[in-house]
Amino acid sequence: MCEAPALSRRALLAAGATLAAGTLVGFSPGVAQAKPAGRTALIVVDVQRDFCEQGALPVAGGTAVARRISRWIRDHRTEYDIIVATRDWHIDPGAHFSQTPDYVNSWPVHCQAGSVGAQFHPALDTHVDFTSTLDAVVSKGQYSGAYSGFEGTAKDGRTLDQVLRSRQIARLDIVGLATDYCVRATALDGRRLGYRERLLTPMCAGVSDAGEISAMQDMSDAGVQLIDQP
Ligand SMILES: [Zn+2]
Repeated sequence: MCEAPALSRRALLAAGATLAAGTLVGFSPGVAQAKPAGRTALIVVDVQRDFCEQGALPVAGGTAVARRISRWIRDHRTEYDIIVATRDWHIDPGAHFSQTPDYVNSWPVHCQAGSVGAQFHPALDTHVDFTSTLDAVVSKGQYSGAYSGFEGTAKDGRTLDQVLRSRQIARLDIVGLATDYCVRATALDGRRLGYRERLLTPMCAGVSDAGEISAMQDMSDAGVQLIDQP
């Protein structure tokens, strides 16, 4: 099993599409031209140094995801009313950290508040000055593990939901790391809170292929539209 060739993203999406029974929407002129109703936010989930190559808890493809997000913001900035980034920001998260992590509920030390590893990945700046495009940064996980961005707060203490509602946001485009953990948790919480959501899958990467497919199935089941755009 371990020697199986890595699935390409397209193969993953094809598998996801099969599982999702037709809810996967490919890029097409019709989709691209559709004018979405309501105000829209781009949510960039946890694209931090520690979650990319050379980081403490790297997700394969994380740096490439960061670069694609940068290009996406350059090319699509005007489609968003606001852009919000979430970040894992640990001070003393208890059992979330472990010397003997199981990589399911416990993890090596990562994204400690104020550390280099907790910084947004510099590849986000490839095509834009990433932080200058942000309307808010939501930090989470200070004193316990927190996967969903909706568990975090902005600098002014508001929750992500409060930040979005204050700007009349109804729709979320979600990108980031990792598909099978923080992206999934953020998307599912957003659906529970009533947001219409799209997952822009080429700008996400998962810890494992199986986890990514399972997460995409969960998100699709919850009504998240999976978008396969370049
Ligand atoms: Zn964490």
